[in-house]
Amino acid sequence: MSDEAVTAEADAPRELAGTVAIVGFPNVGKSTLINRLTESRAAVVHETPGVTRDRKELLCEWNGIWFRLIDTGGVDEVEGGPFGQKIADQARAAIDEADLVLFVVDARAGITPGDEELATILRAAKRPVIVLANKIDDPRRDPEAAVFHRLGLGDPWPISGLHGHGTGDLLDEIVQRLPGTGEITIGADAIRVAILGRPNVGKSSLLNRIVGRERVIVSEIPGTTRDAIDTVLQRGDTTFVLVDTAGLRRKRKQRQGIEYYSELRALQAADRADVALVLFDASEGIVEQDLAVADIARKAGCSTLAVLSKWDATELDIVEAQGHLARRLRQRPPVIAVSAKTGRGIERLLDKVEQLFAKHNGRITTGELNRALDELKEARPGPQGDRGRRLKLMYGTQVETRPPRFRIFVNAPSLVTRDYGYWVENELRKRFELEGVPVSIDFVKSE
Ligand code: GDP
Ligand code: GDP
Repeated sequence: MSDEAVTAEADAPRELAGTVAIVGFPNVGKSTLINRLTESRAAVVHETPGVTRDRKELLCEWNGIWFRLIDTGGVDEVEGGPFGQKIADQARAAIDEADLVLFVVDARAGITPGDEELATILRAAKRPVIVLANKIDDPRRDPEAAVFHRLGLGDPWPISGLHGHGTGDLLDEIVQRLPGTGEITIGADAIRVAILGRPNVGKSSLLNRIVGRERVIVSEIPGTTRDAIDTVLQRGDTTFVLVDTAGLRRKRKQRQGIEYYSELRALQAADRADVALVLFDASEGIVEQDLAVADIARKAGCSTLAVLSKWDATELDIVEAQGHLARRLRQRPPVIAVSAKTGRGIERLLDKVEQLFAKHNGRITTGELNRALDELKEARPGPQGDRGRRLKLMYGTQVETRPPRFRIFVNAPSLVTRDYGYWVENELRKRFELEGVPVSIDFVKSE
């Protein structure tokens, strides 16, 4: 694990105050400036190289305030003519997402045709801009910044990315100009939710529907693993943390060709989650790959809610689907039908997540558990060993929550067969309404 990732974990997740984009022509000093801005007190906790080769995202901190920095510095191809199409496209995309744009120009070179082109784009975009007249290494030369007034984007700031002249003030200015500077702390009772499913099952559409509801408050925070950005959602008294959603929230066209939910990514998200929404595309029916995703969720210790997506476009019968999933999936997940298109089921989905989490995090008293075990002893005799010895359930207790884990004392653990173990698991699941919850049982020799 890198140092950066460790920093991210040491600091509690915080709200991002906003997004800053750095644009400018090649060689004006963007990379040098970014190194300067992120080196000293500002911690670079995150790097997201995956998006495109030409673009990096960094999470930065200044005086306890976090913001995202989009670096378009990797674009250096100037193809034909005075102005590179690629640079313009990159800049437009970055500006689109930014709350504040840092427009870097080279004070030694003066205004170039490229600067003028970018200035035109920026004036049209109507985003807050700070023009940085870079490479003014000597403060006595600060007045030279003034020529960049002509770009029509306000007072230029004299700075030197290389020597650090003006960069501390710049960071102060950046955090002041960002929309949100509040901090939120995510309590231990927040429900961590992963949205899982094979490509095109409708994960992004569902997420956007969920966060688009008016009765929820949404913000983004750095996740605890490298690369991940989580979405925090407050509904009434309940906080939901939607794990690793940056890729899903990004506009569709920007994530083309990127599979955010490759298996590894899904594993990491599931590992951090309490509840997994496992999506099944109802317009296509349930396929093997979907069942494999549900298995990932169970093995990661998530409680599973099976979400039949695109319900507006199917003939599927929900009762049949439920039966099918109960037969195929060990955790017997509850099922909900939703449509991101019409909004059907979305409000209920969050209710279901809360209910499922209550079970996931719940505790069954030793009295209740032992009454259930007594019934199980009556219902089915334990498996028999070679010398006629029979397994006997003695008593049990719940030893862990979130997810639940039980310890059941027996006369001879070696007599527990796979079949019998599953049967006990399912009986407990039925009795305590643990559908969807991964139930672990350790059979232990009674002394
Ligand atoms: P980018 O292409 O915009 O990312 O530019 P770089 O950061 O790679 O810088 C281009 C060149 O300008 C490099 O040779 C840097 O050393 C130089 N440079 C960057 N910032 C400054 C500065 O503040 N002062 C001086 N004198 N040179 C700088
Ligand atoms: P992801 O790859 O799992 O994130 O899936 P997307 O959310 O990008 O959706 C894949 C495709 O399914 C897109 O063409 C969506 O328009 C479509 N889609 C998503 N949700 C619904 C829905 O509720 N109803 C219908 N009819 N189509 C949907």
